[in-house]
Amino acid sequence: MARQPKSFFTPERRTLLEDLTGLSETDTAALELVGRYAAEKLWPQYEAINADRRAFHAAMDSLIDPKQLGFRGSFLPEDLGGIDLSIPAYMMGLEMLSQGNASVALSLAIDGSVLSALSRLGDEQQLGRYVRDALRDKRMTAFALTEPGYGSDAGNLETRATTDGASWKLNGQKTWTTNGGWADYYFVVCRTNPDRNLGPAGLSVLMVHKEEIAAIEQIPKYTVPGSYTATLTFADSVVPAADGAARLVGSVDTGFMDAKRLLEGGRITIASFGLGIASEAFEMALDYTRTRESQGEALIEKQAIALPLAEFDARLDAARLMTYTAAKRMQAGRMENAEASKAKLLGSELAAELADFNRRVHGSYGLAKEYRCVQLIHDAGVAVTGEGTSEIQKILIASNRKKRTGKDPGFRP
Ligand SMILES: Cc1cc2nc3c(=O)[nH]c(=O)nc-3n(C[C@H](O)[C@H](O)[C@H](O)COP(=O)(O)OP(=O)(O)OC[C@H]3O[C@@H](n4cnc5c(N)ncnc54)[C@H](O)[C@@H]3O)c2cc1C
Repeated sequence: MARQPKSFFTPERRTLLEDLTGLSETDTAALELVGRYAAEKLWPQYEAINADRRAFHAAMDSLIDPKQLGFRGSFLPEDLGGIDLSIPAYMMGLEMLSQGNASVALSLAIDGSVLSALSRLGDEQQLGRYVRDALRDKRMTAFALTEPGYGSDAGNLETRATTDGASWKLNGQKTWTTNGGWADYYFVVCRTNPDRNLGPAGLSVLMVHKEEIAAIEQIPKYTVPGSYTATLTFADSVVPAADGAARLVGSVDTGFMDAKRLLEGGRITIASFGLGIASEAFEMALDYTRTRESQGEALIEKQAIALPLAEFDARLDAARLMTYTAAKRMQAGRMENAEASKAKLLGSELAAELADFNRRVHGSYGLAKEYRCVQLIHDAGVAVTGEGTSEIQKILIASNRKKRTGKDPGFRP
């Protein structure tokens, strides 16, 4: 590839955050480091990180080691082991990491959502073990909601947890768990109330340790191939009620409803993740069409190529504005219900469309392994599907509109 990016913290990205949210010295320093790391380390090793677990771990290690970049959990306050990075700056860091390598960015994003939820819901012992110590000791977390029979319909999930007071017993399966098999700690959503009519109101959250899971099996996959994605099996698996820290996060039966609100931020991380893939597809398309000639001129000189590129350029700006505005409101505690859904919908669909466009403008080379075009399409797939598919985001946006206007979601006042 002709490009040799030096930093993904481009003047455009810097100006956007400066104007939209302001950048503290901490934000600027962290984004400069992460932007360089993503461009100079992750991006050139893209294929190696996707194919070789050692390369993946080496890439992750700098990000999770507090003595190196320590980007993991950086949005947390200092007393919890973070550096008080602003949420918009954290999201932009994820965008740049995703431009460098989506597998790395997704692993970090999911862990970040768990740390964020725990930092608000955990009691003092839980904060100590699962946040402060986990950051210091480089123990990763995973979020286990999806089950083989329940993805979009997670409110009806079946994994059952019963207790005799001294311990919990778990039965069921979780699947598509990012960081599954690597993480030490699993934020497992399970049914504690047998009345299935209660839906999500009968679900609780338990912190389960890796060794308490009966079986962990990796899922071979096209998308984010460097990252761990596993199916977890619980078979009369015993989890102590407390062993230095309680395993139940929040309250019985309502724990997941509380966590759900906090996990809204996870949608913004996936929007940022999608923007990173979209940015890389855009840069690749620009790069290729500037140099590839047809009928005596560069492809980019053809209106049939230049106009869709101009439109993608505008849509990238718009999706960024939405994502970082949502992140700013999240920081201020003023995020509207459907805001993260809108950002995620636009950012992820843009990633999918741009990745496909990039593949097309590369002609046959777009299908060659030598280029990253097909991998970007696969990686965009998880942006569209993870943390709720696009259809689910549209349903959430529509039902939020209905609540606000009291009218049918199809009606636009
Ligand atoms: C790489 C990767 C990593 C992931 N990481 C995690 C993780 O860390 N933790 C975790 O818990 N999960 C994770 N997931 C799972 C992901 O969140 C789910 O796969 C996703 O929510 C969709 O669920 P599903 O696959 O069961 O699809 P389904 O829910 O079966 O949906 C299938 C199709 O039907 C559509 N559909 C479903 N219901 C409706 C409806 N009511 N109206 C209209 N259309 C509908 C969907 O939009 C989709 O197009 C991950 C997935 C991937 C691919």
